[in-house]
Amino acid sequence: MSKSTRSKKAAERRAAELRRQIEHHNRRYYVLDDPEISDAEYDALLDELRAIEAAHPELLKPDSPTQRVGAKPLEKFVQVRHLQPMYSLANARNEEELRAWDARVRKLAGDGAAPLEQVEYVTEPKIDGLAISLLYEDGVFTRGATRGDGEIGEEVTRNLRTIEAIPRTLEHAPALVEVRGEVYMARTAFAALNEQRAEAGEPTFANPRNSAAGAIRQLDPAITAARPLSMWCYGIGATEGLEHETHSEELEWLAGAGFRVAPDWKVHTGLEALVRECRRWEEEREGLDYEIDGVVVKVNDLDAQRGLGVVGREPRGAIAWKFAPMTATTELRSVMWNVGRTGHMVPFANLEPVQVSGVTVKLATLHNEEDLRKKDVRDGDEVVVMRAGDVIPQVVSPTPAAQRKRDRSAPPEPPRRCPACGTPTLKPPEGVWTICPNRASCPGQIFQAVKHFVSRGAMDIDGFGEKQAYRFLSDGLIRDVSDIYDLTEEQLVALDGFGELSARNLLQSIERSKEVPFFRVLYALGIPGIGYVNARALAQQFGSMDALMDAPPEEIEQAPGIGPILARTIAETLSEDGTRALVERLRAHGLKMASEGPLPGDDGKLSGLTFVLTGTLPDLSRERATEMIEEAGGKVTGSVSGKTSYVVAGTDPGSKLGKAQELGVEVIDEAGLRELLG
Ligand code: NAD
Repeated sequence: MSKSTRSKKAAERRAAELRRQIEHHNRRYYVLDDPEISDAEYDALLDELRAIEAAHPELLKPDSPTQRVGAKPLEKFVQVRHLQPMYSLANARNEEELRAWDARVRKLAGDGAAPLEQVEYVTEPKIDGLAISLLYEDGVFTRGATRGDGEIGEEVTRNLRTIEAIPRTLEHAPALVEVRGEVYMARTAFAALNEQRAEAGEPTFANPRNSAAGAIRQLDPAITAARPLSMWCYGIGATEGLEHETHSEELEWLAGAGFRVAPDWKVHTGLEALVRECRRWEEEREGLDYEIDGVVVKVNDLDAQRGLGVVGREPRGAIAWKFAPMTATTELRSVMWNVGRTGHMVPFANLEPVQVSGVTVKLATLHNEEDLRKKDVRDGDEVVVMRAGDVIPQVVSPTPAAQRKRDRSAPPEPPRRCPACGTPTLKPPEGVWTICPNRASCPGQIFQAVKHFVSRGAMDIDGFGEKQAYRFLSDGLIRDVSDIYDLTEEQLVALDGFGELSARNLLQSIERSKEVPFFRVLYALGIPGIGYVNARALAQQFGSMDALMDAPPEEIEQAPGIGPILARTIAETLSEDGTRALVERLRAHGLKMASEGPLPGDDGKLSGLTFVLTGTLPDLSRERATEMIEEAGGKVTGSVSGKTSYVVAGTDPGSKLGKAQELGVEVIDEAGLRELLG
């Protein structure tokens, strides 16, 4: 056999193996919404296959995963053919690849003699969610579908109708339009959902993308409705009756028609501005309340964009600038255990230190026993670690190589004794978790309870964090959360590191926390089963602590999202002497034990108003401003249209300011916004 035949045989074998692996991961990712490997690892497999196919074009088959989008739709859904196919995107992983793409675009879009000098591009964040196509006929939303294999998707209209961000009808509508966008879950909503699931003993979701995709691909729309989903639109497929020359006109039309449009999109001329914009997004990425994995760059002129054609599954007129992965692979030295605030044993990973997008990670969460079992991680495994935003790093899974190893250690077991107080642990007959039964005096549980009580979504006591909780407890200044309200200036200034000013500031924050609304007090109590979302639901249903404490489990179960087991746990905990005594002590300190009017966001000052933010505000980050507007019932969208109520402009505003002036939309600054918020 000649050398080249041999290498061709080897390439063929490797390509077949790669295809097999990629098909397997496609199924896990697109069909089951439950990937086993990180995106970076998946991309590496696909890149290797692409390289083999490029070197041996005879091995390239039309059904290769390098040529196809996503996966076949699931049989359980009605299948629908998109009027125009939904493609994937080519990737640029660095500046050179973006340059090469720009050079090709300028060459192909030129008149054949010389490349164009410059091309106008549009940038949009690449939202990490689930691609969806919405069909409107004569202005009515008639059908919604997933991308599926790009040609045929799964019909999920009823599920999409539960998403508030998707308009049911359009004004001034064309005869037909396919609107394309990404359904996603905000990070804060995702964290709240996972917390709620962890408390209910349900497996948590690995990331917002999977939980959004899983929520849409349900047969029961009630499940979708219970998940906090939203949608950002970024394009138009088939249409009858709409004519746009540029992609930016399409985006403006979408905003005007009432869609939420990919936030902060911009038009750029030339490559340098493009690279700057991609880097800006990469820098800001971690501070955003939604996950993005890159920036999408599209040729603005639609004729030119279409004229560039499609290669395989990727249109040539657009590209995704991909960010460095937020995942890394390292060794799991051992699984260790802590006690959580409700007494359950919480596993975490002690890792061989590893750099994950610029940060050294040594510890990572493994969520709970259920998750640990599901992920099947073992001491000594090579594992994938992920970090995103300010969320605690987590172990995603063992690598496939680690899973295949024969001499793996035994699955880790929860400890027999509580690591904080030494009390023998036990597993309640109905529970999924091992717990420390010493609720009243386990120092580990009390520490976690204090940390939770003062945290942001709870009592939000500024200047009181993990360090202070540890200090006050170990110095005996507090024994439980109610003692926080008895702290005095003398006690604080006597501590190392506390001056008069910092002591006074802390006491002021403590005092201010008494204004926190009832639902957050309820959440702050850290009662098993009452996470942020459930606290809101219960406060809405019962209105006061007394009514809730008097309610039998059957009534508690009526609150949305609360099942019979959870209702019983809540009722039992609320009837315990210890809980009742704590509630009374907090009531005596003046904490709110009843709702006063509607919850924030339900009937706020800004309800019915739509805002667009542009530029840098003096004090508020974009996320904080968005949160404040949304808490007051307002909506924040990405682009200015006739329906925008206010544009809030800071320094260096983008093209949105001009657009606002053009449309006569009122422009205000941060002070103006604060005034509206009262
Ligand atoms: P892609 O996600 O890289 O790019 C195309 C998609 O980007 C579009 O379909 C659309 O959904 C989305 N998008 C977001 N914002 C957009 C915008 N503003 N304009 C246009 N499109 C926008 O490609 P893909 O084919 O959807 O999937 C590949 C991705 O999925 C990769 O990141 C890959 O790592 C991951 N994946 C992972 C696994 C795994 O096992 N971990 C398996 C399969 C795929």
